[in-house]
Parts: sequence; C-alpha cells; structure tokens
Amino acid sequence: MTKHFDFIAIGGGSGGIAAANRAALHGAKCAVVESGRLGGTCVNVGCVPKKVMWNGAALAHTLEHAEDYGFEVSGHTFHWQKLKKARDEYILNLNGRYQTYLQDNKVTVIRGLAGFVDAHTIEVDGERYTADHILIATGGTPLVPPVPGAELGITSDGFFELEDRPKRVAIVGAGYIAVELAGMLNALGSEVSLMLRREHFLDNFDAMLRETLMEEMVEDGVEILPKTQVVEVIEESGKLTLRCEDGRQNAGFDTVIWAIGRVPNCEGLNLEAAGITPDKKGFVQTDEYQNTPVKGIYAVGDVTGRIALTPVAIAAGRRLSDRLFGGMKDRKLDYENVATVMFSHPPIATIGLSETEARDKHGDAVKVYQTRFTPMFHAITQRKVKTAMKLVTVGVDEKIVGCHIIGHGADEMMQGFAVAIKMGATKADFDNTVAIHPTSSEELVTMR
Ligand code: FAD
Ligand code: NDP
Repeated sequence: MTKHFDFIAIGGGSGGIAAANRAALHGAKCAVVESGRLGGTCVNVGCVPKKVMWNGAALAHTLEHAEDYGFEVSGHTFHWQKLKKARDEYILNLNGRYQTYLQDNKVTVIRGLAGFVDAHTIEVDGERYTADHILIATGGTPLVPPVPGAELGITSDGFFELEDRPKRVAIVGAGYIAVELAGMLNALGSEVSLMLRREHFLDNFDAMLRETLMEEMVEDGVEILPKTQVVEVIEESGKLTLRCEDGRQNAGFDTVIWAIGRVPNCEGLNLEAAGITPDKKGFVQTDEYQNTPVKGIYAVGDVTGRIALTPVAIAAGRRLSDRLFGGMKDRKLDYENVATVMFSHPPIATIGLSETEARDKHGDAVKVYQTRFTPMFHAITQRKVKTAMKLVTVGVDEKIVGCHIIGHGADEMMQGFAVAIKMGATKADFDNTVAIHPTSSEELVTMR
C-alpha cells in the first residue's frame, strides 16, 4: 500500500532536514528521503570537515608565530591520518545525531534515491510514497571540466577522502572552495599551486578583500598562477602534468583538485513527471516563498541556485514549514544582507554590497571608510599578517550597505555586525558604539 505523508523532503541535507523537523514540530506527518549520508554536503563533505581542517591549519599558523611569543616549539610533527581519523569520527557521530533528531520528531527516514512519479507521488527503490507537499532539497555536486584527463583529478569530495597529505597539489578554480583548500593544504605542509583562468580569484567579492588575500597567500607560499586555463591533465610516471590553453605545462603534481563550481542534483529526480522544468543551468526555479511553478512542490537550498550556504538552506526550509504548517502565511526568507565567511588564511567576512556594486547602484551617494593595519597579535611576530576593513555607506545618513573584513578573527567578528546591518545601522550608529579595546573589531566603530 502506498504510504501517505503531509510533507516529504527529498534530500536529507541542511535544507531538507531543517524543513522536515520544523514541519513535524508543527504537527505534520513527515518523511525525509536520503540517498547518501544524513546531514548532506555540509556535514559530510562541506562546512564541518572543512572547518576541522581549517582549525588544524590555523593551529599550524599559530605554531609559526609561537617562537615570537617565547615558546620553543621546534621539531613538531603533523600527522594527517590522525586529524582525518578524529574528523571522520566526529562526523559519524553527527550523522547519528541527525538520525536521532529526526526520530525524536517522528520524521520517517526513507533510504534511497527518490524520483517523481507525478506531482504528489515519489518512488524510492520501487516503493511509492504520496504527500500533499513535496520539497526538493537535493543540493549540488562538484563540477568536473570536460577536458581530457579530468578523471585523474579529484574534487572537494575527494579531498575529504585523502588518507595522506598530498606533497604537491594543483587546485584549479577561483571561488570559495579553491581558496579555502589552497590555504588549508599550504598551512598543513603541501606545496600548493592555485590555477586561475582569470587575473584574480573571488571575482564578486570586494576588491580590497581579494587583493589583500592574494598578497597574504603569496607571502605564505601559495603559488598563484593567473590566466592559467587548464585544458588537459596527463599522467607520466605517477605524476600529473597540467597543460594550459597557451601551451604552458605545469608538471610534477601528485594531486589535482577541481574547484570550479557546483551543479544542482536533479539527475534521477524525474522532474518532468512532476511538471517541473529546470532552468538552463539545471536549477529548480522558485518564487520568494520557495514555491516551484507546480502547486504543492517547493525547493530550497543549493538546488535552487540561490545563495549556496547552509544557514540559507536551513532558514528557507524552516520558514517554508512555518508557512505551510505553522499558520504563518507570509513567512519567507529575506535573501538580502546574508553574511558569509571565507575560511581562508587570513579569513574573510563579508556582508552586503561590494564598493563596486554600491557605486553601480547608488553612484555618488556612496561614501567608503576603510582601514588597513597590523593587528596587535602580529605586533611582535616576525611575519605581519595584515587586517583590512571597509564600510560602504549610502546617502546623507550614511546607511551601511556593505561591510568587508579580512584578517585574524574576521570569522568571529561578523555575526554581531550583521545583526546591526540587517537592522539598518548607519555609520553614526557604529560611531555611537563604544569600542572594545584592544581588539581588531574596534576599528569598525572608530573609522574616520
Ligand atoms: P545538501 O546539504 O547538499 O543536501 C542534499 C542531500 O540530498 C544530499 O545528502 C544528497 O545525498 C541528497 N539527494 C540528492 N538527490 C537525491 C535524491 N534524488 N533522492 C534522495 N536524496 C537525494 N556553507 C556554509 O554556510 N559554510 C561553509 O563553511 C561551507 N563550506 C562548504 C565547503 C564545501 C567543500 C562545500 C562543498 C560546501 C560548503 N558550504 C558551506 C555550502 C553548504 O554545504 C551547502 O550550501 C549546503 O549543504 C546546502 O544544503 P542543501 O540542503 O541545499 O543540500
Ligand atoms: P564558486 O562558484 O564559488 O567558484 C567557482 C569559480 O571557479 C567560478 O566562479 C569561476 O571563477 C571558476 N571557474 C569556473 N569554471 C572554471 C574552469 N573551467 N576553469 C577554471 N576556473 C573555473 O564555486 P565553489 O565550487 O568554490 O563553491 C560552491 C559554493 O559553495 C560557493 O559559491 C559557496 O556558496 C559555497 N561554499 C561556501 C563556503 C563558505 O561558506 N565558507 C565554502 C565553500 C563553498 P572565474 O569565473 O573568476 O574564473
């Protein structure tokens, strides 16, 4: 007999789990279908294992400065396998915790790959399930370029499976993942070449952020190769060579990582049966309430092509369930002013418009405040890692429309400022806030 639910979430990642748990708390009979490990990208091959590796890399940087602070730490050794084992155990534990939350909320977990039969019916391993409301939260998958030898490389998924630290690694790409993996691997002792097809990375970030990061990464020992479009990977005597469009060859790598973006997971979903046509890039289009064009079918998270961040998928999923089952008929996610952190070395935190975007939108009404300094942590270290900050304001009341920070501690600085900016803070509000001294973040309330 076909099982019927009020709500089925296809995809047990950030968005699907959050939506199903919230719907169940509102009293709906719910199921989550997951073909892989509970927790999805973020928990298994994204934010969580990445942050563990970043913490390890940050520790390596701290050790670098420890002698300047009077510690004798020469001769320390790093064991990749030990860190990986601890990380894997932590994640296995999280998978179990997700299962428990779902069980506690009486959400049925269906294991397998779901495909639509019609707008209210899905099939998983030959079993059919119906629901009044179906959520598509199937996330995305790393993209591999269609070049000869591409299969010799790995993606971020493969990075998390590496049993040993690569000795010499080429990372191809220019976004979050390329920059984060390059920083981490470099700090943990790999020789890293970052290959960009353009002049710079992080194209849609404020120029101050990417320029400062580029300087610091080069200073740190990452080889950055601009205008290097890889067209082929060749294996010779166990080593990999990357051939570029202009004929240059970069040889001697033991690992190549593709970090050139992600594509939505729609394969196998049989969207046509539900009456849904993905857009040209394969994303499932939604309106501001996460509705697809088909009544009773919704989508959240990476599969929608909106901001691809875990808290965004979670917030969109929870708000959808509040609207469908919690009587909050206007509840929806506001996608404006979402703060984000790039776990680079040093980290970047950013919210709102870059200076360029603000000038394009508001012209001469834009006024920018910025500062660049050596943070106190580096006052007595040999190597000085810079901090830079920028506030982008608009109009006579100098409403803050962008805040951009790169430097030690930026990752933990932004959340509070994001609240202020989301509330519509002006430069005067920042100035009226008494500084916390001595910190780096105090610069944000004392800028001239
Ligand atoms: P996912 O979490 O990808 O979940 C989708 C789930 O659906 C998967 O488990 C998949 O197995 C399942 N699925 C797919 N198709 C089917 C099907 N047909 N039937 C059943 N199940 C199916 N974001 C941050 O906010 N901070 C970070 O620091 C961060 N770091 C990241 C680092 C990396 C390396 C990567 C790759 C991503 C990172 N992200 C980060 C992004 C974040 O992981 C995603 O935005 C988030 O996981 C998206 O959630 P989702 O629910 O849309 O999809
Ligand atoms: P991104 O979209 O961030 O970046 C990919 C970049 O790679 C493109 O912008 C492009 O830059 C470059 N590129 C594309 N095709 C090629 C090619 N053929 N050869 C060389 N370079 C190419 O994708 P990521 O995979 O890095 O990350 C996906 C998303 O996951 C992010 O956008 C983010 O939302 C999320 N994420 C969030 C993190 C966080 O919150 N800290 C960490 C990791 C991921 P260009 O056009 O300039 O060449």
